[in-house]
Amino acid sequence: MSAGERVALVTGSTSGIGLAIARRLAREGFRMALHGFAPPEGVAAIEEALRKLGAPQARHFEADLLQPAQIERLMAAVAQDHGRLDVLVNNAGIQHVAPIDQFPPERWDAILAVNLSAAFHTTRLALPLMRARGWGRIVNIASVSGLVAAPMKAAYVAAKHGLVGLTKVTALETATEAITCNAICPGWVLTPLVERQLQARHAAEGGSREDVVRQLLVKQPSQDFVTLEQVAALAAYFVSDEAAQTRGVAWNLDGGYAAA
Ligand code: NAD
Repeated sequence: MSAGERVALVTGSTSGIGLAIARRLAREGFRMALHGFAPPEGVAAIEEALRKLGAPQARHFEADLLQPAQIERLMAAVAQDHGRLDVLVNNAGIQHVAPIDQFPPERWDAILAVNLSAAFHTTRLALPLMRARGWGRIVNIASVSGLVAAPMKAAYVAAKHGLVGLTKVTALETATEAITCNAICPGWVLTPLVERQLQARHAAEGGSREDVVRQLLVKQPSQDFVTLEQVAALAAYFVSDEAAQTRGVAWNLDGGYAAA
């Protein structure tokens, strides 16, 4: 079957890593279901760009992933619009940095909801659609924080470790089917999410931007950012037919971060 018949939903594909994965899958000819916050003109520009890259169809769907009822509506709308769902990339994520005893409980709840529970909801609703066609690919964008811990990131580390666990369970429950589930665990990638952290550090610590970047990358042995294209290429491999026996993997793409 050509990619052109297959439908891929990428959550949080209006920005950063999700947008890069959407662009890559569009180039491979998938019909794209986009999702994430963006002003209407931004959404229209992304839809147009993906069609130009090769997606036979590109349409944005709204849903606040903090709300399970909105996730149910999102999945029903994608299924109704396209009549199928073949690839699900759980990418949307948020971050908050604070010591545990000062961590705002509402930020804990939000990070667990967007970074972990949303993937449970999309996965439970995607599996019947994939099983109906006998093929599927689920790619969870975890983080190196799903493999190793860091101070100040209690909710993020807990959610990403949880997402790696959910990946393995999904892989086991689909092990005898043509449906796979794998996770990507990136180190630092320069996206709006990381840019906000850089600016917060700059405001708190001062110094030049180069100093702040060097400090940020101190645990990434390559001392260089992972690129958006590198993450998108690994996602494309997990989605490919060649990856049929790649199951339950949590692949760190992190400049050596988790090896140290
Ligand atoms: P980003 O801030 O650029 O993009 C996040 C996307 O998620 C946006 O499209 C945003 O609209 C969407 N989103 C956030 N909250 C949402 C909500 N409540 N409902 C619907 N959509 C929502 O972030 P990014 O850096 O591209 O991160 C993408 C994923 O990669 C996240 O899961 C993040 O944890 C993970 N990650 C990022 C890095 C990095 O260094 N940037 C490293 C490891 C893992």
